[in-house]
Amino acid sequence: MDIPVQLVKPGMARSKPADESKLGFGIYPSNHMFLLDYQTGLGWHSPRIVPFGPFLMNPAAMVLHYGQEVFDGHKAYRGPKGEVVLFRPKDNLKRLSRSAERLCIPPFPEDLVYQGMIKLIQVDRDWTPSSPGTSLYVRPTIIATEPHLGVRPAEELLLYIILCPVGAYYPEGFAPVSILVEESYVRAAPGGVGEAKTSANYAASLKAQVEAHDKGYTQVLWLDAVERRFVEEVGTMNIVFKFKDELVTPPLGGTILPGITRDSVLTMARDMGIKVSERPVTIGEVVDKAKSGELEEVFGVGTAAVISPVGRLGYRGQDLTIRGGEAGPLAQELFQKLTDLQSGRGPDPYGWREVVA
Ligand SMILES: *Cc1c(COP(=O)(O)O)cnc(C)c1O
Repeated sequence: MDIPVQLVKPGMARSKPADESKLGFGIYPSNHMFLLDYQTGLGWHSPRIVPFGPFLMNPAAMVLHYGQEVFDGHKAYRGPKGEVVLFRPKDNLKRLSRSAERLCIPPFPEDLVYQGMIKLIQVDRDWTPSSPGTSLYVRPTIIATEPHLGVRPAEELLLYIILCPVGAYYPEGFAPVSILVEESYVRAAPGGVGEAKTSANYAASLKAQVEAHDKGYTQVLWLDAVERRFVEEVGTMNIVFKFKDELVTPPLGGTILPGITRDSVLTMARDMGIKVSERPVTIGEVVDKAKSGELEEVFGVGTAAVISPVGRLGYRGQDLTIRGGEAGPLAQELFQKLTDLQSGRGPDPYGWREVVA
């Protein structure tokens, strides 16, 4: 299908901030966006690329009241020859489809949305920064726009994609973070929406995050909602533990977001000859192994930071210091390998890169 492009008027076009050290995260949208409408009876229709700008929305739009929304996020990188490269974009669209299914959002045409995404990146290719660690963040989102105050799945929706250049996550080096084991609040319960990337999960997490911040921690480590024993994940990252001869991460049981970075890191670790286990891990096991010296590394894995070493773990008023608060060698090696692959500086044995512009 042809996707019409309405370019921003000459003179109205903004340019990417010149100082790539001050990009932050999601502050400077590019000049265009992709839109696709849905109406019951018509299906998904009218794909188009238009100048970036605010939506006019009915105050009764269902997304504003009942949160029928899903999103995803991945990055485009500037390769060594100036090309723009996406990392596993189709896996993100598949996950967006699975999230949509959970939220009763009608299935969207993945191929068409993929084409729209590529075309949008081509139109705004100059917005892809090139300094080490920077990237162009791609944010597809679906919202229920139908004005209706009864609770049911909406019959009018909007799928859109916006792009923002984002800064390096580690401008001053690969710095470990501190996380607090959360015992009062829970993120997701069995049968809930924990495995969907949907706004409700993030709204529900804010209070714990604010309280952890006030206590001096960067993020929280969520435990399972039923027994409050099993480790689940961090704010927007999955969590990985390196015990002596085993790399362990909680299994995807419905309450955890199936991270693409998680999958990439596990695949690479297996190919490095490391024993990888997706198995339940209790906070008790983590604490015991920290005390016995078997806990060698802890790191978060997610698109934003790629790999985020954990230097300090707060639990019941005590702090476990991991590796003296320094990043571990496995986290370093995986970070290097994966970021080299993503940016086109290293080999891509898995076919995860897609040159798009
Ligand atoms: C997005 C996200 C992740 C990581 O997924 P990636 O595909 O690796 O970016 C993990 N947990 C939560 C809650 C998330 O929202």
